Amino acid sequence: MRTDSSVSSPRSPLPSVDRLLGSAALAPLLARHGRQACTQAVRDTLEALRARLRAGETLAPDACEPERIADTVQQRLAARFAPKLQAVFNLTGTVLHTNLGRALLPQEAVDAVVEAMLSPANLEYDLATGGRGDRDDLIEALICELTGAEAATVVNNNAAAVLLTLGSLAQGKEVIVSRGELVEIGGAFRIPDIMARAGARLVEVGTTNRTHARDYTEAVTPDTGLLMKVHCSNYEVTGFTKSVSDQEVADIAHAQGLDMVVDLGSGTLVDMRQWGLPYEVTVRETIAAGADIVTFSGDKLLGGPQAGLIVGRKDLIARIKKNPLKRAMRVGKLTLAALEPVLRLYLHPEQLAERLTTLRLFTRKAAEMQDQAQVLAPQLQAALGAAYVVETAAMASQIGSGALPVESLPSHGLRIHPASGRQAGRQLLQLEAALRALPRPVIGRIHADALWLDLRCLEASQQPRFAEQLALLTEALA
Ligand SMILES: *Cc1c(COP(=O)(O)O)cnc(C)c1O
Repeated sequence: MRTDSSVSSPRSPLPSVDRLLGSAALAPLLARHGRQACTQAVRDTLEALRARLRAGETLAPDACEPERIADTVQQRLAARFAPKLQAVFNLTGTVLHTNLGRALLPQEAVDAVVEAMLSPANLEYDLATGGRGDRDDLIEALICELTGAEAATVVNNNAAAVLLTLGSLAQGKEVIVSRGELVEIGGAFRIPDIMARAGARLVEVGTTNRTHARDYTEAVTPDTGLLMKVHCSNYEVTGFTKSVSDQEVADIAHAQGLDMVVDLGSGTLVDMRQWGLPYEVTVRETIAAGADIVTFSGDKLLGGPQAGLIVGRKDLIARIKKNPLKRAMRVGKLTLAALEPVLRLYLHPEQLAERLTTLRLFTRKAAEMQDQAQVLAPQLQAALGAAYVVETAAMASQIGSGALPVESLPSHGLRIHPASGRQAGRQLLQLEAALRALPRPVIGRIHADALWLDLRCLEASQQPRFAEQLALLTEALA
């Protein structure tokens, strides 16, 4: 602890900590944030001023007045108590943006989470018998109905689902995977590393671009534990390629008395072509093709909370649930509260595109975003002034999170570039930073010497809030 800062020396121009804490200017801050935080903020503020004095800096004449110092203390406290996890506007054009928290939850899920937060719930309590229940029982039947699987369990995310599946079904055994499917997902999820941590031995077959059925057949040994398929979620191998279908790999596995697991990654529950979206294999199709276990994420195409769903054969799910690591990866009641209503929306497909937030965003028409862009462009232009040029422009959104990496959705938005070519790069970065510093940060994307704001994820209900804060940019960029 520093003791020097509580008493100022006779020659110091700075007021003492005690004097500041007793000043009228500090009273509201003390009431709001408490003595401990205020004392700390006052000490830190005085220390910073003292350092500037020691460095020989000339301060403003009133810099040492209690009122001025109180202003700085207030800013320090505001910064300290501001939430670190903040809502932002995702105008990157990537709907399921992993760094921005992926899927947004529908209102039904939000309501259920709030209820579960405020009240005890039958998380592991069987209301019919009064006995102990299993948290998976709450949603297992629903997941099975939607996927055609016999059984299901839920863990923290899909990475955990893959780790737990391999560790439960193939520990000490070999797992055969095509070389073309040894994926790395952003944030260091790599199949070979997960395999090693699960205690399984990876056996790679085929080549990067071509794998044949016989590659799998010939790799089977008495040590083989599983055959595995991994969905190429964030890339596509094109050109001279050959891969073996889920059904063929399942048939090869079953002919040898082995099981076949599929890491589907995104894993959709419905055929998205009915909304004009690109085709992505569904969980049901994968189960029907013969997969014994399928794992997928809760917060990618499914549109729910972060979770990893493991579905498949009853005996295998039972083995997975017996693994002690399941306890370490299980989900909490908030996740289950959010997941259940999201899954239930799938029982009513006609309304899904309206009620499931992610699907509603995927299916927004470019014309809708174009209308928004036309309204917002002059407002943004007025806020930015003559130094920037704001135009409306056609754009291409991505689904994101590795789903359908090469497909894009026609969109519309605002494209902003500096009016003069001199220092354009620096100006663009400045604008990007100013947008990030708004009360609700706006995240766009710099591309081809311009800042692009794709409006797909700015729904009409959010537009006033977005527009309202634009005026702050004028000052920020001055
Ligand atoms: C996204 C993904 C994962 C990881 O899922 P998380 O839910 O992010 O843990 C694993 N495998 C594949 C193929 C994926 O696309």
